[in-house]
Amino acid sequence: MSEANPRFWEIFFEVYESLPRQGPGNRACAARALGLCRDLPQAPAILDLGCGVGGQTLQLAELVGAGSIVAIDSHPPSIERLQAAIPERGLARRVRAIVGDMAHPGQPQGSFDLIWSEGALYNIGLRKALDVCHGLLRPGGYLAFTDAVWRRKNPPPEVRAGFDQEYPTMGWLEDDVAAIQECGFELVGHFTLPDEAWWEDFYTPMETRIAELRGKYANDAEASAILDQLAEEPELHRRYSGFYAYEFFVARLPLAPSRPEMIQAPSQ
Ligand code: SAH
Repeated sequence: MSEANPRFWEIFFEVYESLPRQGPGNRACAARALGLCRDLPQAPAILDLGCGVGGQTLQLAELVGAGSIVAIDSHPPSIERLQAAIPERGLARRVRAIVGDMAHPGQPQGSFDLIWSEGALYNIGLRKALDVCHGLLRPGGYLAFTDAVWRRKNPPPEVRAGFDQEYPTMGWLEDDVAAIQECGFELVGHFTLPDEAWWEDFYTPMETRIAELRGKYANDAEASAILDQLAEEPELHRRYSGFYAYEFFVARLPLAPSRPEMIQAPSQ
């Protein structure tokens, strides 16, 4: 079943849009990463890039307790879901969800205290994303993001093929750390997402959703084959999760300008 087939994406979104999150992550990990951002102002200005349906956006709003969040995703139905959830959670004055491209988020430069992004920056390439974030943060601002990394050599071919499709430039922990530093950030801390963060809000609801849709599509061979294909990902994770990980990184912009091009030449 080719991902060029429009039917693939129809069923893919029918599964993914209904999940609390569209990638690994949970509230406990968000709280731990937020705890590493020690010098945040009391009411921070936050940007959530690639927010999906906003599982982490809403948790972050509750964990921070004050300030504002602008949440951006390029997939309009996910933003519509988040827009519906915001007033239900009493967050209409603090959280705004908009359709946009994280490569060109249309937000004022140097204006954010914290940029958050779970499982999304890789979509535009990590280094490009780090450059975008560098421009949007104020000096001393934080960047908290998750990214997939390899953790064992020689993965089974089906694991390799899955990541080659989804994230061909995926590296190792040290590659991400080097990218963070070379793009002008200080690394504050990092930790590996525990296995439950893959299941709670992501693979467990995904398997439940796939099972529901198997009933709906019982007489539709094409849709059933796509569901089989989507069901492989949690199954591969059960067998081979030792080969890769999701790492939470917290980085910070230095308080003084860190890049040569940002340092003004002294006037003669
Ligand atoms: N942060 C969410 C969603 C992760 S899935 C969570 O952890 O649950 C990755 C998200 O990135 C998807 O919702 C996808 O629509 C979004 N995305 C991909 N490319 C994007 C881009 N260029 N700009 C904005 N969002 C993008």
